[in-house]
Amino acid sequence: MRTAEIRQRWLDYFSERGHHVAPSTSLISPDPSLLFTVAGMVPFIPYIIGTEQSPHPRIASVQKCIRTNDIENVGKTTRHGTFFQMNGNFSFGDYFKEGAIDFAWELLTNSQVDGGYGFDGDKLWVTLWDQDTESFDVLTRKIGMDPAHIVRLPREENFWDTGQPGPAGPCAEFHVDRGPEYGPEAVGGNVDPGGDRYLEVWNLVFDQYLRGEGKGKDYPLIRELDQKAIDTGAGLERLAFLMQGKQNMYEIDEVYPVIAATEQITGKRYGADTDDDVRMRVIADHVRSSLMLISDGVRPSNEGRGYVLRRVVRRAVRSLRLLGVQETALPELLPVSMEAMKASYPILETEFDRISQVAYGEEDAFLRTLASGTTILDTAVARAKSSAGGATPVLGGEQAFALHDTYGFPIDLTLEMASEQGVQVDEAAFRSLMAEQKARARADAVAKKTGHTDTAAYESVRTSLDAPVEFLGYTDLTSRS
Ligand code: ATP
Ligand code: MG
Ligand code: MG
Ligand code: MG
Repeated sequence: MRTAEIRQRWLDYFSERGHHVAPSTSLISPDPSLLFTVAGMVPFIPYIIGTEQSPHPRIASVQKCIRTNDIENVGKTTRHGTFFQMNGNFSFGDYFKEGAIDFAWELLTNSQVDGGYGFDGDKLWVTLWDQDTESFDVLTRKIGMDPAHIVRLPREENFWDTGQPGPAGPCAEFHVDRGPEYGPEAVGGNVDPGGDRYLEVWNLVFDQYLRGEGKGKDYPLIRELDQKAIDTGAGLERLAFLMQGKQNMYEIDEVYPVIAATEQITGKRYGADTDDDVRMRVIADHVRSSLMLISDGVRPSNEGRGYVLRRVVRRAVRSLRLLGVQETALPELLPVSMEAMKASYPILETEFDRISQVAYGEEDAFLRTLASGTTILDTAVARAKSSAGGATPVLGGEQAFALHDTYGFPIDLTLEMASEQGVQVDEAAFRSLMAEQKARARADAVAKKTGHTDTAAYESVRTSLDAPVEFLGYTDLTSRS
């Protein structure tokens, strides 16, 4: 089944069961505390935390998401994209645990001819909060699940909250057992025994309690909420790779064509070399993320969202380099990604001229940066190696700073390229040089603002611009793990 059909089937299933179908919102988060939309629940945060009443008691959606915290996993695990789509169903004061578990079980296990996804119920595992006897009873008594496939975990591992007093509650996570060829068995109910055998596909969050003050997961549950909520998220690409009989999410119909095109460009075969395979998966993922980010209006820049876009374009280009491609490649890859995605997002085709101009411009700019900086970096790396005398070679902070300042090499690029050659970078020294430069720039700017005393506002803008680009809000927001 094509990914677009799995997506549609989700919306149909929940629509037939009284859910209002909400379109995906932009990747640019509607919630100002988040850089990107990182989960299906983001557009509905006010309804979940109870600051607004939802016009619909039941909602379903397939939400475009970006998670930068997964960037290092891309291509290495089977299951992490920077861009992915989260299928969600939500209840605001309507059905609760039993309803949500019933829906999840039915949709996963009903046969494909009956509108379901056709998973074998005997291959499903569920993790629960160990105090959640209600969900345990629904799963065992009503659904008839084998209790050996239900894993009961402490609050630290399976409990949602916003990081502050307010709503909180347990999760139930559905996993699919892919079989013994993918890794060790879940001995003692540990569904994370290493290997890729148990794949988390669907997280049901039960927004049940009012929690009090406390650090981490150490807080009192004061009482049950008056209006409870259900917030679920299932990875569309994860469902797709299992249902399409593929090995990972980069091999599905919406992503793999870019890998195939990369094989054409590079003359290398996917599946022939482990490192090259990772690079091809990174390329396919990052090309798609660039497409989707630009489509939602993100522009390359040196901070915030623009920097994330810049980073994924550049990582794709770097991976292509490591596969031996020196010339531009996006004009061959981006249209392939668009073709693969347009069934679900027709706007990608109608807006493709605009989107592609931005992407190609960024690739060109980066190729120029690489051309001027790579020799300098290689020389510095060689020097660091020859002067290391047996110890781990380290590239000095001044050199990393010069690369940044003169050649536009972002620090993460220097770190990556140095580490590929077994060289560390004195990042602390780099950071302090950066801080000095910023302090100088700030002093200059303030000196220039003659007659204007409101530097506090200016400072706060600067500070927010200088804030780390890596997004952390989601952990605070939901602490799903
Ligand atoms: P994992 O433990 O595999 O990193 P998670 O627990 O961080 O996943 P949740 O926050 O529970 O994920 O999100 C709900 C669902 O969204 C997951 O069960 C999974 O199916 C999907 N999902 C999460 N992160 C990604 C990603 N980076 N790429 C693709 N799908 C994802
Ligand atoms: Mg999860
Ligand atoms: Mg998880
Ligand atoms: Mg995760």
